Amino acid sequence: MSLLKSIPKVDKLASNEAFKDLSNSLIISIIKNKIEELRSDILDKKIDLIDENELISKVLTEYENIIKPSLQKVINATGVIVHTNLGRSLIDKNVFEKARDIATSYNNLEYDLEKGKRGERYSHISKVFCELLGCEDVLIVNNNASAVFLILNTFAKGKEVAVSRGELVEIGGSFRVPDVMSNSGAILKEIGTTNKTHLRDYENAINENTSMLMKVHKSNYSIEGFSQEVSFKEIIEVAQKNEVIDYYDMGSGHLIDLPYGLKESEPSVLEYMKQKPSLLSFSGDKLLGSVQAGIIVGKKKYIEQLKKNQLLRMLRVDKLTLAILEENVKSILLKDFDSIPTLKMLFKTVEELTINAQKVEEKISSFCTCNLLETKTVIGGGTTPNKKIPTIALSIEFKNYKPNKIEKIFRQNNIIGRIENEKFLLDFRTILEDDINILIEKIGQIINE
Ligand SMILES: *Cc1c(COP(=O)(O)O)cnc(C)c1O
Repeated sequence: MSLLKSIPKVDKLASNEAFKDLSNSLIISIIKNKIEELRSDILDKKIDLIDENELISKVLTEYENIIKPSLQKVINATGVIVHTNLGRSLIDKNVFEKARDIATSYNNLEYDLEKGKRGERYSHISKVFCELLGCEDVLIVNNNASAVFLILNTFAKGKEVAVSRGELVEIGGSFRVPDVMSNSGAILKEIGTTNKTHLRDYENAINENTSMLMKVHKSNYSIEGFSQEVSFKEIIEVAQKNEVIDYYDMGSGHLIDLPYGLKESEPSVLEYMKQKPSLLSFSGDKLLGSVQAGIIVGKKKYIEQLKKNQLLRMLRVDKLTLAILEENVKSILLKDFDSIPTLKMLFKTVEELTINAQKVEEKISSFCTCNLLETKTVIGGGTTPNKKIPTIALSIEFKNYKPNKIEKIFRQNNIIGRIENEKFLLDFRTILEDDINILIEKIGQIINE
């Protein structure tokens, strides 16, 4: 067992020249682990020689792996604007600067500057939201999933909530309406059928233990053919007549009219607010185009009750969230859509996208085969299921590589594209203006390698 004896000593190895500018405590910890591995490899007779240089290089690689940032910037060339895997909505740099000022100094988050007393965290946002939406009050929580949970838990614990069978959705990341409902303590009362639910189904569902008629946005699917659903407007009428709460989990709420003929099928939050609903909630980082948050709007008496639920303390949001949200909602109020990247991308014309695509095509067409094409993409993020919007893409081919090989090479360079009709595409709907030159440079490097 002389091999075991020749394992280098931790301190001696750590003092090697190769580690001289690195964190000594981290190096020692990695060396200890590597030596442990070495010891068990020797005992298992997997190795019969200790190569100290190899050991040093393994330690260095591990060190790099640990300290290299895991969360990295990517170029979204998928064309999917609200891409949940790529961080959903982006924050404009100037908006972020304003929020940075708040987050890097003390602020009046819960302090009333006029009275010199404790203030309310949610008050900062309520004026601008209520001006925009005409609602009585607003409450912000961690995300829309927590908004749904808080609402059900506050009003429907041990009570019935009527939901259409066509709306018992599962969205990504294990959010299933029936499960959320049972976890919150509410009793699900399924009504209608998968394809058809009538207004009378809601009316017939109401009994003395009913607390709420709930509608859920069918975020990632649609029911076509022989089908019928009841609009939130009608549900509000029935609920208010019967003195139960009406609530719409809208998923991706937008505060603007959608382009591409989507306005009618996907009305904005403002449209619903005209009907004075009891409660409505939506995400902050889907089509609203802001930070991760759950936004609850509606009648003051219900929002007051939500504020009294102990759960709110666990779901509350930070100053950074409120600061960014306040700026973004103000921009929407002032119709300054350019400072909301999600909306800016959504409204880009095919002509503008073509100009960007041509800029890239011009620079890279000498290294590879690329073709500009008009195609379609989706908004994403459970916003407009099965609806396509126009876009412009460049298809990239080189060295007879298969599209999935090209996709992988680009992905390893943090450029995420998509494959369509056996071609690798860079979709310009989601490529930021600021990233065009970086993209050209990176493609040059990829093809030279
Ligand atoms: C996206 C979505 C949610 C969850 O919203 P998060 O902000 O991601 O928590 C809930 N309900 C519906 C219908 C959705 O589309």
